[in-house]
Amino acid sequence: MQNYDKKQERTLVIVKPDGVQRSLIGEVIKRYEQCGLKLVALKMVIPSRDQALKHYSVDPEWALKTGTKSIEAWKAKGLTPPTNDPIELAEGVRKTLLDFLSSGPVVAMVWQGMHAVGVIRKITGSTEPLSSVPGTIRGDYTIDSYSAADSDKRSVRNIIHASGTVAEANNEIPLWFNKNEILNYRLVAEEILYDANLDGILE
Ligand code: GDP
Repeated sequence: MQNYDKKQERTLVIVKPDGVQRSLIGEVIKRYEQCGLKLVALKMVIPSRDQALKHYSVDPEWALKTGTKSIEAWKAKGLTPPTNDPIELAEGVRKTLLDFLSSGPVVAMVWQGMHAVGVIRKITGSTEPLSSVPGTIRGDYTIDSYSAADSDKRSVRNIIHASGTVAEANNEIPLWFNKNEILNYRLVAEEILYDANLDGILE
């Protein structure tokens, strides 16, 4: 299929414990599946705190990015963040994330296809459910906010983790899947998504 190989990108998705408990596994898979991406790996696990810590330690920029994003979200609502130091804020978030992610079963998946990282982030919605737009998974299926989560000293319950960049995906996927657990196969729909000539349709 002309064009296929150079258009493949992979991303990690985790349906977090709140998504599993809210019976949203099927809905999440449906949304990613129907946009044209391909599911190439899937498993249900109860992560240990150690596994959760590895997951939230792979990106050296994570603390700065997460803390900055959160402080900006507080300020955009006219609220005062609990601290103006992004690293301090993110370290607090990281501690709550270890409890959250290891609190029960999660479903880890690898999705593959053109622009997989960006497409999955778009369908998932922005980190804080209060500001995720309707139509996204976080916008449609949950109601949490940074202020509610921080005042209860817990993680924002936003149903899903999805890799933020291709580099992040490449670091995260091996933490959850061995190479032989990620399947190589073609979907019939990929002919219409990727083939440059569409010369296989008419008989
Ligand atoms: P994501 O890539 O959209 O999941 O967002 P981040 O990597 O920035 O944050 C990781 C996770 O930490 C989020 O999905 C939330 O569950 C949680 N989180 C992020 N920011 C905050 C915050 O300011 N307060 C609290 N309590 N949790 C947060």
